[in-house]
Parts: sequence; C-alpha cells; structure tokens
Amino acid sequence: MATPELLNLVGGEWRRPEGADRAPVTNPATAETLAWVPLSPAGEVDLTVRAAAAAFPAWRDTPVGDRVQSLFRLKALMERDIVELSRTITLECGKTYAESEGELRRGIENVEVASGMPSLMQGYNNEDVARGIDEHLFRQPLGVVAGITPFNFPGMIPLWFMPYALGAGNCFVLKPSERVPMTTQHLMRLCQEAGFPDGVVSLVNGGKETVDALLDHPQVRAVSFVGSTPVAKYIYARATANGKRAQCQGGAKNPAIVLPDADMDMSTRILADSAFGCAGQRCLATSVVITVGEAREAFSERIVDDAHTRRVGFGLDDGVQMGPVISEASRERIHGLVDAGVREGGRLLADGRGATVDGFADGYFLHPTVVADVDPHGDFAHTEIFGPVLTLLHADTLDDAIALANARAFGNQACLFTTSGAAARAFRHQVKAGNVGINLGVAAPMAYFPFSGWGDSFFGDLHGQGRHAVEFFTETKVVIERWPSAWSRRF
Ligand code: NAD
Repeated sequence: MATPELLNLVGGEWRRPEGADRAPVTNPATAETLAWVPLSPAGEVDLTVRAAAAAFPAWRDTPVGDRVQSLFRLKALMERDIVELSRTITLECGKTYAESEGELRRGIENVEVASGMPSLMQGYNNEDVARGIDEHLFRQPLGVVAGITPFNFPGMIPLWFMPYALGAGNCFVLKPSERVPMTTQHLMRLCQEAGFPDGVVSLVNGGKETVDALLDHPQVRAVSFVGSTPVAKYIYARATANGKRAQCQGGAKNPAIVLPDADMDMSTRILADSAFGCAGQRCLATSVVITVGEAREAFSERIVDDAHTRRVGFGLDDGVQMGPVISEASRERIHGLVDAGVREGGRLLADGRGATVDGFADGYFLHPTVVADVDPHGDFAHTEIFGPVLTLLHADTLDDAIALANARAFGNQACLFTTSGAAARAFRHQVKAGNVGINLGVAAPMAYFPFSGWGDSFFGDLHGQGRHAVEFFTETKVVIERWPSAWSRRF
C-alpha cells in the first residue's frame, strides 16, 4: 500500500498545498515511514487564514448556545473513535496505548468544559452607575486565532485551546507538530462531522516557514503555542511585535522533593511513573528528585529497582510500560547529555543507553536512567533532557531543598512527598512553580483550571484551559448607556 500523503483543511476543503516540500512521519518504535506531511508555504497559510476570516462573521453571529452544540457532538465523536485515535497516537508518538487514551481523556475534558461557554463568556453590569446611566461588560470573540503545538501530546494539547476559541466564536487554525500530524487529521474530520461550518476549524501542516507565516499574517489575532523554551520565546516576541495576543508554553526541568517521613513505596511508584512515563517526554515529567535526610538511601534503592524492571517496548503490546523516544536525533541528544552529566561528576545508578527491544531493532528505545551526585548548580541539573533520565540531588533540610528547587529558570511544576501538613504548606507557599503537586508526580491541572507554567516555562499572562482560555480568546467591550425616562413618555 502506498504511504499516505496528509492534507490541509482549508475553508472546509481537504487539499494538498501546491509546491510544498514534504517530510516523513515516522513510527519511533520501528523507524518505518507512516505518512508524508506537507510543509506548507506562506501562500497556503494566507489561503487558510483568509478562508477562516471569511467564515468568522457568520460564526460569531451564531448564538453561543448553538455554537456549543458542535462541541457536545465533538465530545461524543471523540469517545466513539477513542480506540482508533489512541492507536494513531501510539503509532506516531511512541507512547503506550494507555498513555494515549489517557491524554485523549484529558483532551475531551477540555471539550466538556468549553461546552459551558454560554455561562463562561458572560459579562457583568451595573444599573445606575450615575443617575439613569447603566454600564455593561460584554465578551466578544477576536476573529481568527492560531494554535501551534508540539509532538508529545497530539491528542490533548490542541484541545487546551481549540474548544474555548471555537465556543467563544473565533475561527481556529491549527498547525500541529510535523512529527505527529496523523492524529490531527482524524480530529479535524471529527470537527467536520460535529458540524462546525467550513472555515471555522482549519488545519495547516508544516514547519518553521508555516509558523512564521501565521505569526506575520495580519488577520491572525492571537497565537497559542506549546513547545520548547527557545521557540516559545521566539514566537512570543514575533507574535507580540506584530500586535497579536500570545500565550506561549515552554520547556521544563521539574523538581520533586522527598522528605524522610514520606510513604516511600507510594512516592517511588508515583515518581517513577512521572519520570519514566511517556518515556520522560512530558512537560510535567519529574526530572530531578531532591531527597532530604534519610530519604536518600530509601528512595535511591527503590527508584533504581524500578528503573531496572520497567518494561520497555512497542506501545501497542500488552504489559509495556514505556515506549521509545520520538526520534533517533532525540535519542542521540539524550545519550550526549548523559555523557556530559557523567563528565560533570554524575554517577550512573541505572544506565538505560544501548537498550534493545526484541523484534524492534530499529526503534528509538532507551531504558530508564538514574544519575546521582551531579553538581546541583551545573548544566546537567538545569538542562531539559526530555527523555527517561532522572537526576538525584540531596539536601539536609526542607528549606535547602526548596532553595535547590527554586534555583531553576523553569517553573512548570514542583512536587513534594511528605505526610506532614506543615511541610506541605511551607512548600506550597515558597516554591516557584505554577503547577504544584503534594504527593502527586504529574500535577496536570484539570481543564477547568489554568495550566499555570511560570518562569521560562511560560511567556504571556493568560494560560491555556479554563477561565484563562476564555479570557484569552475574547476581548471585553464596555458599554455605557443613557436612556432618559422622558423619552419613554412617548409611548
Ligand atoms: P518544538 O519547540 O521543537 O516544536 C513545537 C512547535 O513549534 C512545532 O509545531 C514546530 O513545528 C514548531 N517549531 C519548531 N521550531 C520552530 C522554529 N524555529 N520556528 C517556528 N516554529 C518552530 O517542541 P517539541 O520538540 O515538538 O516539543 C517538546 C517541547 O515542548 C519540550 O521542550 C517540552 O517541555 C515542551 N512542552 C511544554 C509543555 C508545557 O505545557 N509547558 C507541554 C508540552 C510540551
């Protein structure tokens, strides 16, 4: 069978962009080419955005209660197709089937929350702000907005933004990661089936040139981005310089502190899943554990045991706990970073490099890796690795551990493991991170809370999800009215 060529969705029509280069979409477990994705040039972006802008007036004038009917249908359709969608995520992204289904469930949760848009986008008002004068605040959609998303959650991250943008009356253009574009093809077909009018939801595949054309297009009013920090910074600067709203989520290096009073078995289980789940390719993966006092020995032994016994393999096979990383380049980069960590004095308690999986000789596999004794202020302890590599640091007191956690430029997540409420409260109060977990390893906010990265993990002010997303995708209009009562005497 010929390798499929993926398409763009422009003004309700599936099309192949003219003159576009193409890139292979690779199954990271087998290195086989699954599809070809077009790298859309600027002209294709212009066509897409203009079609979206043409669809905007009618969509904006569709009552919000009618708009959300398409979101209700989208939720039902995603549930209907969840097995096929999950398999596609595993094939193109590498994670296990359970992880793929889990991310879709978190995506669907955002569709559910955005279906409450009739209440979420309500304004507020006051009668008689001055004698006979009333004042109202309305929320109105922006117009055409764009989402640019990373490879690691193709079924969830677009939904941190898209349902809110659509429910609020905007037209949404998605530029998914060119490494995992197949899930989005399916999602877009479901949007069509759910009844969103032509042009209200669009898909433009591509890479940097495609992104730059979106950032420069005068009809794109806002940009939502998730990806690495250098690209987040770049996109934030270019979008805002062009007068657009921007919310840009970046990379991470998430610390977790384990106190000696923690339940060690539970903490290890949770932290192993956090560090090695999705092969460490989660922006909320714990990548540094700081043990305090006697926790060092108890935790190190257990985590090394888990690293050695975790079952690595093809994500659709039963019992597999961890899939491959996304690409050969990524695996090489991770190998190089571990080498650098060892040069900085790191001691390998578990070395997952050189991993092989029976029957998958070409896959980009690594086993979990645990590195201890690195310099807490060196590069290794501060660089995002984005692979199944956990660094162990140590501190004598909780305050010292919090200081180590706060020494990072990133601020996506920080977690604490303890049975002490007072320690938990001190940590919660002092730690510099936007998503905080107590006895949790992946503190991913539910859809009705914002995904609150800080520091180099976020550029902007309003985050994705929940009320922040509603505010991001609407602008406020304040209307002050005078209707003198004398005029009513005419009737
Ligand atoms: P990436 O930055 O390489 O790519 C993200 C998107 O930006 C893709 O759509 C890509 O096509 C585009 N892009 C890449 N380089 C570009 C450039 N120079 N100019 C314009 N556009 C460009 O990220 P990735 O490797 O796909 O994803 C992994 C990264 O995403 C990690 O750093 C991870 O921490 C981060 N991430 C963050 C969050 C969060 O919530 N903060 C969530 C998921 C992933």
